[in-house]
Formats: sequence, structure tokens, C-alpha cells
Amino acid sequence: MTEVTPRTRDRIMVDDHQPMPLVDTFQRRITYLRLSVTDRCDLRCTYCMPERMTFLPKREVLTLEELYELASGFIDRGVSKIRITGGEPLVRRDIMDLFSALGRRLGHGLKELTLTTNATQLAAHADSLAKAGVRRVNVSLDTLDRARFAELTRRDALPQVLEGIAAAKDAGLKVKLNAVALKGVNEEELPDLIAWGHSQGHDVTLIEVMPLGDVEEERLDQYLPLDDVRARLEQRWTLTDNDASTGGPARYIDIAETGGRLGLITPHTSNFCAGCNRLRVTATGQLYPCLGGAEQVDLRAALRSDAPQRELAKALEEAMTIKPERHHFRMGERGADPALARHMSMTGG
Ligand code: SAM
Ligand code: SF4
Repeated sequence: MTEVTPRTRDRIMVDDHQPMPLVDTFQRRITYLRLSVTDRCDLRCTYCMPERMTFLPKREVLTLEELYELASGFIDRGVSKIRITGGEPLVRRDIMDLFSALGRRLGHGLKELTLTTNATQLAAHADSLAKAGVRRVNVSLDTLDRARFAELTRRDALPQVLEGIAAAKDAGLKVKLNAVALKGVNEEELPDLIAWGHSQGHDVTLIEVMPLGDVEEERLDQYLPLDDVRARLEQRWTLTDNDASTGGPARYIDIAETGGRLGLITPHTSNFCAGCNRLRVTATGQLYPCLGGAEQVDLRAALRSDAPQRELAKALEEAMTIKPERHHFRMGERGADPALARHMSMTGG
């Protein structure tokens, strides 16, 4: 990737050069962008994608320069936090160039640059990420059992993942572990996973499975309500609700015995939309104002048009008008089509 310059900076400023904040019709101010840099992945988590996943032709995916232009444009509209996601962001060639380029905007509109990763390649990149200004990473880890990991992700990669997590810690990155709670799969193991995470100094968040994309398995069979998990944890530990909010969808509880904090993301059992401050952009530049909605705006077309400044500003205004008040996730009937056809690996987690 050649040196990127913030060409978009002047494009979406109003005439007096003050950036116009992004505010939706429900008066929610958008300050957080989740940017997917690839739909590809080196794992095949059974709840995320089928073994024979069809990936996008590379030409449809935004170049690193375009991703930077887009991200920079969002920063100019008041987005202060960017999470790079995917697919697996670290499988994208030269992705560190994007981190370095965006890292240079830290302190210049951008306050936080983060990453969600499966950590298979984190050991090789942890130091560069820290150097680029990344301070925190989210790592997806659903099990500590090697055989179960291999079954769940369809790849025998737990040792690399643990190495990646250790390397991140050594590089000074704060690690948060995310685990999807799966009925009959990691259900029994979740307390041990939480205890291990906390013993390593990592926050842990549990996530309910969401009906995104076809995955070969029956969604209802995967779904484990976190209320059930909490009830089980209460038999083992002393849990106290923690009102601290990071502005995200998680609710938090403190666990006295581990001394750690546990986040719970429960799209089915509680509504986290009222304070939503985020937008998601896929690797092809499709903006999804809601993870659980079908609404979208094509930013790639805007970016590649003859008048990118005007078209991008128009597209972002449109996004503000179509961001729904709340998501409408439903698990649906057994055997029903997924609530949304697109996979999480497309929109980014
Ligand atoms: N590959 C990276 C990873 O796994 O961390 C980043 C992308 S992944 C799509 C982001 C997050 O989405 C992961 O924590 C993953 O567990 C979660 N995820 C994927 N499919 C999901 C689903 N159907 N329901 C709930 N979470 C899902
Ligand atoms: Fe890949 Fe992440 Fe999806 Fe697993 S959850 S298949 S690691 S994109």
C-alpha cells in the first residue's frame, strides 16, 4: 500500500470547514464505526459460516486505500472510534499498512483504533498493532478444549490462538475475550472459560447466537439464552450487576471470586438499541446502519463516482435517515430461513 493521504478530509466538511456530526432520526449521534476489511477467514466457525463458504471476488472488495479514504471520511464526520473486523482482518494482505495509516489519525479526530480477531495470526502482528497505536483487541474464543475448538471452528488452531493471545498481552494490548454461548457445545465449559480469562487478566463477554446467514446447522439448536447461563454461574459465584457502560450493547456483572468482569450481549432477551452509536461497513463498502436490519447504503458507488465528495455526503445523510430504531432479531421457527441472509462475517461482528 502506498502512503495514504486523507483526500476525503475536505470532501464532507460543510462550507465553514466544521465537520457535520452524524445524527440519526432518533437523535443518536454516530461516533463508532465497525469496518470490515475482508469477508474471508481462516476458520469456519459453525455458527458463523458453512464449511464451503462462498467468498466475494477480490475485485469487489475495497482496496486498502479506499478503506482508508472511507474511514478517514467518517472520522471527519465525528466518528472517534473505529474497530477493524471481518471475516478475519489479519488474513488480509498488508493490513498493517491500514492500521499504520489510521493510527496516524489517533489524536486527530480518532480516539480509539481497535480490532476483532480470531487470533490465529495475532502472534505475528501484536507488536505492529501496538506500534500503530492499537491499545485493545477483542479475541473470539469459544472453548479452551482443543478437540472442541477443532470441531467448532472446523480447524485445529487452538495452540496458535493461545499463542496469539499471549503475544497480545506481552505487547501491552488489553485483551477482551468474546465467546458465543452455544447450547450443548460450550455450555458446560463457560464457567471455566470465564475463570481462565479472568485469571489471565482479560475481560470476558458472552454473546447469544444471532440468526445471520445460513450455516448448515439449525439455529434453534445452537441458541443458549444467557439468562440460563447466568443462573448457572450464580450457583458457583457471587455476581453483582455493574452499571458501568461502555456505550456498547453489553451489560456487565462483577464476579467476586474471580475478581473479573463479565459482559453479556443478549440481543434476544434485552434490547440494546436505544443508545446505539454505531454503523457497520462491509469490505465492499456497503453501509449497514443496523446489524439486525436489511437497510443498506452503497458507499463504494459513492467513493468510485465522479463526485465522491458529494455522493459520500449524500450516502451518509441517507444512512442517517434509514437507521432503524431497533433491530428485529427473531430466532424463527425450526427449519426457517435465517432472519437475515447475510453472514456475520460479511457485516463484521
Ligand atoms: N474473525 C474475527 C473473530 O472471529 O473475532 C472477526 C469477525 S467475527 C464475524 C466477529 C464476532 O462475531 C466473533 O466474536 C464471532 O464469534 C461473532 N459471531 C459470528 N457469527 C455469529 C452469530 N451468528 N451470532 C453471534 N455472534 C456471531
Ligand atoms: Fe471466521 Fe470470525 Fe466467523 Fe469464526 S466468527 S468463521 S473466526 S469470521
